[in-house]
Amino acid sequence: MIGKGVWAGLVGQSAAIQVLSTAAGAAAAGTGGMTHAWLFTGPPGSGRSVAARAFAAALQCAARDKPGCGTCQSCRTVLAGTHPDVRNIVPEGLSISVAEMRALVQAASRRPASGRWQIVVIEDADRLTEGASNALLKAVEEPPARTVFLLCAPSDHPDDVSVTIRSRCRVVALRTPSILDIADVLRERDGIPADIATWAASVSGGHVGRARRLATDPDARSRREAVLAVPPALLGAADPFAAAEALVAAAANEAIETTRNRDESEKAELEMALGKGGTGRGAALAGRGTVGAVRELERRQKSRATRTQRDSLDRALVDLAGFYRDVLAVSFGADVPLTHPDRLAEIRSAASSYPAEAVLRRLEAVLACREAIELNVKPRIAVDALVTVLRHG
Ligand SMILES: [Zn+2]
Repeated sequence: MIGKGVWAGLVGQSAAIQVLSTAAGAAAAGTGGMTHAWLFTGPPGSGRSVAARAFAAALQCAARDKPGCGTCQSCRTVLAGTHPDVRNIVPEGLSISVAEMRALVQAASRRPASGRWQIVVIEDADRLTEGASNALLKAVEEPPARTVFLLCAPSDHPDDVSVTIRSRCRVVALRTPSILDIADVLRERDGIPADIATWAASVSGGHVGRARRLATDPDARSRREAVLAVPPALLGAADPFAAAEALVAAAANEAIETTRNRDESEKAELEMALGKGGTGRGAALAGRGTVGAVRELERRQKSRATRTQRDSLDRALVDLAGFYRDVLAVSFGADVPLTHPDRLAEIRSAASSYPAEAVLRRLEAVLACREAIELNVKPRIAVDALVTVLRHG
């Protein structure tokens, strides 16, 4: 099911849409008390940040009787990320710093400039440092009258969101959209041909954005090919360390591609803003501050590149885990949808080559590798350890 108005970006989330549009309606009518902190949870790709932004738009919407029209100036600017009273925080580095969070909390305590609420959307709230989380907690405990915090995290487990913050939030749980829901949206909204939409939805693991990328981006398809070529190669005579090399290199290349253009244009913008290339006393004075500002930008860009590389490697490992999980499902004859239904032949062949315990050891090794990388182990070292297990069990 595809929602309407501001909810159009949400796929298969009718229960959450119901809760949010009711709350936005009550807020517009001024009936009942407003909840000032919301926590959007759900697996990656279920649309946590899409739901948070849609709710922010509905709260600012000009259509008071049925907020969330999607067409008024408020709805459009919130969805485009340009509304002056909606701040969208995406931790691009490895975490959000205390200083960033303090500045944000302070800005959010001002009266709304034009909208009805000051809204702060924090994507990946699970990446807050303890210090940043404490700075946020103070604001969430005593929110200014017109301020609303919308947090997004994979779950409301204490590993993702501190218990104290969780206790102040109303939780909106999103579910993994079905393959049919995803295929529908790819076809109807993105105009993707039916056969490609169905295939991409079936191998996306319930991740809408991933399905769209696989359907439209040949590079994303070939990266998936490369990852799924690893297990069959390890069954044969392939060099396991070449396979490890390929995995890490693919992730690094993706990170470089996605961040390079942005890095360059950010640097050019900053230098322009700092008056680089000007002459005279003003420009000379500006020049001194420039070096520091450029260094700070480069530091942030480096941190973002590291995060992007880890995220792409993690996605590769999720695909790999899906393969061994499928092998296990096939060995047990379990009647469940496969993660990689288009690899049935390779999955069957692995199922007949390994005893179930051997498959389980491999699956556990992939999950351990994900954890090691999350804990800052160098990707190459973690992946080398992984392929040793994948090869020899
Ligand atoms: Zn509207």
